[in-house]
Amino acid sequence: MSTTILITGLALGALQLIAGVAIGRWTATPRRALRAAGEDRRRARRLAGELQTLTADLSAQARAQGEQLSRVDERLQSEAASLDADSAEHPLTSLVSGVVREMLRANQSLQERLASAELELEARTAEVAEHLQTAMTDPLTGLPNRRALDDHLNVRADAWRKHQTPFSVVMVDVDHFKQFNDTHGHAAGDQALRSIGAALRGALRHHDVVARYGGEEFAVVLPHTDLSTAHAAVRKTIDAVRSTVVEVHGETIPVTASVGLASVRPSERLESLMRRADQALYAAKQAGRDRAWLHDGHDLSPLEHRVGSTESPPGPGGGLRGISPDLQQACSALSSSMTALLEPETGTHAP
Ligand code: GH3
Ligand code: MG
Ligand code: MG
Repeated sequence: MSTTILITGLALGALQLIAGVAIGRWTATPRRALRAAGEDRRRARRLAGELQTLTADLSAQARAQGEQLSRVDERLQSEAASLDADSAEHPLTSLVSGVVREMLRANQSLQERLASAELELEARTAEVAEHLQTAMTDPLTGLPNRRALDDHLNVRADAWRKHQTPFSVVMVDVDHFKQFNDTHGHAAGDQALRSIGAALRGALRHHDVVARYGGEEFAVVLPHTDLSTAHAAVRKTIDAVRSTVVEVHGETIPVTASVGLASVRPSERLESLMRRADQALYAAKQAGRDRAWLHDGHDLSPLEHRVGSTESPPGPGGGLRGISPDLQQACSALSSSMTALLEPETGTHAP
């Protein structure tokens, strides 16, 4: 009996210690997570999940210990009742009974503390998720910010390195935006950026990432998209800006943007890809704005997009003739996904 009580006491002590350490680690997490991006962000989420599982396990163990103690207590009571009055008052019996009651009280208090730790963890998890969301979102447009974009780009670069899953980047810079601000005011400029952001988001596919790159620049990441299939997205991008309605004092002000496209090349690093997309954008500006240019790894060339056009120009990589650009893009995405699935697992997941 005394061995059981000793073990139970030790177990309860250990539980309290583990819970204390876990909660201590947890409370330090939100500040760290806020500073973190990419890998740290994922680690923070994973840690939150692990802590919740740990607390739930501890609760279950504490409940089991409590039930065990209750059974011991009941047995003590019934054995005491079966003895005659003098024996029931035996000092050892009452000592053991007292210790068991004490352990039950300690167990009850531990269960209550674990239950409140569980609630605290839930609240903190939601808080961290909200902070992370805020840290990755551009407040003006509600789009992913530069930091979130970097995360997406790293994931795509990983998939390219490991599975040759292609992707493309489209840089978008609003034309003569300084002049827009000077003429219509900064507030109207802000509204224009919000509308352009919403138009781009609405025009592109769900899994294309539309981010605010900074200032009056946006960036689009097209997963599973190579040069031959990126044209549809570029056309949609240009058309979305052209058809954005910006109203200032009842007057509709036209807006346009210049666009640069680049698709990732073998062994290419992100810096090089982004530089090429930027060079293509610069070429589009130089060529007169409101148009798209492409950097294919060797040369810069224009991509012609007429207003309202539903056709895409023939791609340098050669598209599937006679098939709509959207279908081409979908086929390419499907084929890339199948390739990734069929390849042996080599730690596919982004960090
Ligand atoms: P270009 O066609 O060559 O791109 O000319 P631009 O005038 O658009 O380019 P420039 O770099 O000269 O000016 C960018 C302008 O964008 C100036 C800046 O005030 C404005 N801008 C950047 N961020 C914001 C913002 O958040 N809100 C508003 N209203 N304007 C912004
Ligand atoms: Mg600019
Ligand atoms: Mg500009």
